[in-house]
Amino acid sequence: MKFHILIFGCQMNYSDSARIKAILINCWMKYTSDIKQADIVIFDTCSVRQKSEDKITGKLKEIWKNQKVWITWCMIQHNLRNAKIDKMAKFKVWNFSWSLKSKTPEIIWLTTDEINDFKNKYPPEKGDKGGLINNKWNIVWINNAFNPMFFNLSQKLKNIELFFRIDDVWFLPIILPKIWYKIKYNSEIINEYEKIIPQWINTSMNPHQTTAYIPISTWCNQFCAYCIVPYARWLERNFPLKQIVDEAKLHIQNWAQEIVLLWQIVNKHPDFIEILKSILKIEWLKRLRYTSPYPTYYSKELLELHEKENKLCPHIHIPLQSWSDNILKKMFRWYDSKQCYEFIDKIRWLKRHISITTDIIVWFPWETEKDFKETIKLIKYWKFDMIYIWIYSSRPWTLAAKKYENDIPYKTKHKRRSKLNELLKKNSLENNKKEIWSIKEVLVNEILIQWNTKTLKHWNIIWYTDNMKQTLINIQDSSKIKEWDFLTVKIIDGKSFKLYWEIINKNTTKH
Ligand code: SF4
Repeated sequence: MKFHILIFGCQMNYSDSARIKAILINCWMKYTSDIKQADIVIFDTCSVRQKSEDKITGKLKEIWKNQKVWITWCMIQHNLRNAKIDKMAKFKVWNFSWSLKSKTPEIIWLTTDEINDFKNKYPPEKGDKGGLINNKWNIVWINNAFNPMFFNLSQKLKNIELFFRIDDVWFLPIILPKIWYKIKYNSEIINEYEKIIPQWINTSMNPHQTTAYIPISTWCNQFCAYCIVPYARWLERNFPLKQIVDEAKLHIQNWAQEIVLLWQIVNKHPDFIEILKSILKIEWLKRLRYTSPYPTYYSKELLELHEKENKLCPHIHIPLQSWSDNILKKMFRWYDSKQCYEFIDKIRWLKRHISITTDIIVWFPWETEKDFKETIKLIKYWKFDMIYIWIYSSRPWTLAAKKYENDIPYKTKHKRRSKLNELLKKNSLENNKKEIWSIKEVLVNEILIQWNTKTLKHWNIIWYTDNMKQTLINIQDSSKIKEWDFLTVKIIDGKSFKLYWEIINKNTTKH
């Protein structure tokens, strides 16, 4: 049986897909990177914006009828409560059950026929909130029992076979026989979701294993007004220090040289500094990065580590979202513009040059011209190396969707966005010009062949520096370069979002 995983969304989904792969390979299934070869196509979904969900629904229709479809993660973990099938109230159970304590849980699922029978036999009583069975310690809900959306989608797309919660991935070996798969698996390596260590499996979005992603916690309690994550993922759970460091050691034994620590508010982990210090001591580690931090959890100790530890990448991503106190308050971001100023000031005063990037949300409801001008002031002042500009997208259950009306005229929206892009382009050019003649260590991420009428064949090399400047260069001869190579280069020119280099040395330090 061959399976293929379609990954949508953030790095977390890439690292989770590696966990799904580890479990299914343990069930003697084969992973195929060619979707056409797959008997089963697994959708690892994202719902941070409506656009992401629309993309997934569109992709679902492209899957061949003879291929089975399984769906997991965000898109089906928040829709639970807004599915328009109130007739099935009795079946509504919260997908936010806690981590299961038993290794032999009861698998609760319902076929479409059972749903129909149930609907006819027991019309719903007003305000019925009761779950079918509510002793949550040994129940795994799948398909209709997990999310009535399964019922809707499987009516339209008959090859949809399984909905499961990502945290229940480790139960796949016992879930699959329920849907008629003959499964044999090595029960020794069945492990709880966060303890699954995907050995020899690529955990990152890079096409090589030099980079390994390690989640250090899951879910988020910040409840920012616009964000669906707390509703799709629920309450925070931190993974133990020893487990995280052991996973890093294992990936480095398996040839990884760059470790990226993952979580929505990664620097909030109570042992964050200890985790960084322990991983920085691991032999053969070349680079350590982390994403995504939260501005208020940047401690003095963390900044000092950035200053003195060369292996800790000289790049800090600080998602500020806005610089207007009015908007920050409405977003429920627990800091104000003065603090934003202080955060960045502290980074700027470090002896080591640190690249700073940020996230800005545009078109947030009720954003006035004055609010927008505040954010522009921030960007003009701090000249970020990169700004990830997110367009506000109303998400179900969020406070903003419930309370704030999005009344910004279309024309204003686009004027503001192009103003931001223009400023970003100008800042990036200015910052990249300052990089000329500097010596950098770059990680080659991807080598793409390209044909061109004039020069016939040449290679596009996609790479990124330690301060996370990514760019693409084309060269005539790539024979000496491999994906995952670390190269020492001299920057010879800088343009907006682009750095040009020449190789000084190839650091093939693979142990
Ligand atoms: S910190 Fe805010 S924006 Fe980030 S995941 Fe948590 S709720 Fe969402």
